Amino acid sequence: MTASRDPHFSFELFPPRTPPGWAKLPALINELARVKPSFFSVTYGAGGSDQNGTYDTLIKVVEQTGIEAAPHLTCVGSTRANIAALLQQYRDAGVKRIVALRGDLPATAMSSAARGEFRFANELIEFIRDAHGDAFALEVAAYPEIHPQATSPEADFDAFVRKVQAGADGAVTQYFYNADAYFDFAERCDRAGLKVPIVPGIMPIVNTQQLLRFSAACGAEVPRWVRLRLEAFGDDKRAVQDFGLEVVTRLCDTLLKNGAPGVHFYTLNQAEPTLKLWRNLGLPG
Ligand code: FAD
Repeated sequence: MTASRDPHFSFELFPPRTPPGWAKLPALINELARVKPSFFSVTYGAGGSDQNGTYDTLIKVVEQTGIEAAPHLTCVGSTRANIAALLQQYRDAGVKRIVALRGDLPATAMSSAARGEFRFANELIEFIRDAHGDAFALEVAAYPEIHPQATSPEADFDAFVRKVQAGADGAVTQYFYNADAYFDFAERCDRAGLKVPIVPGIMPIVNTQQLLRFSAACGAEVPRWVRLRLEAFGDDKRAVQDFGLEVVTRLCDTLLKNGAPGVHFYTLNQAEPTLKLWRNLGLPG
């Protein structure tokens, strides 16, 4: 598996949570692979998935398609020994890229032992670079609309700078629907002299309640006019999806025409919403 040089149109999958989800995975991967994304990434921990699910999904992508697959690796609750073992497993499997994250803290307070040996993602990046040099390309998370637990916008930006200084090669953003938030963030990166690509993470709109729930949890703002229009469609899924496609196509178009280095699609393990966006944007494949 070789790391692509221009990793800019990527698809995110999560490890299926049910046997029917696993049964559908090969067809989902094939459908998405047809347009030849730069790479796939596979989440870890989100929704209770375990590292075996991430590993198994990643191996399926690579074996079925030959396209690069990058595991997400979260460090919250982990020891250095756990992370070292996982990194070795990934290196042995030929992985060349990792999305390195802290991970979400549980809603209830955690003891420092339960929190693990890494406090923030920059410590994970340092650990990976110390142990493996440049063997992995490292992507980190960026938050144009500010991470929900940040003590201030400045502190959040400083935390991002620390991840880049620790050795990140690129960043993928939390999803957003305000293009200006992305451009403001990219401009701050420029002013701070950061040279890494900041790839916008894009969430297709397929289900109003799911979108509002995710957005409340991760701090993404759904603009009032978008929310009100989605809510007005009620149970009319077709209308929600058509409107969502229009809004998100326009967002991607604005981003790409104004300098964004690509798009990372949060596919939600559904091929059609992402592929419709892909076709609307006139991307090859
Ligand atoms: P960090 O960069 O460590 O930041 C976390 C918070 O701590 C921020 O508020 C930051 O401002 C603050 N902070 C950082 N350093 C310091 C410091 N020194 N002192 C005080 N405050 C500090 N979650 C999963 O569980 N699994 C996944 O697979 C997954 N994939 C993701 C992919 C992408 C592209 C994105 C954007 C998010 C993903 N997440 C995933 C969610 C992510 O784990 C959460 O947003 C998490 O809360 C923060 O992770 P981080 O790596 O950004 O943390």
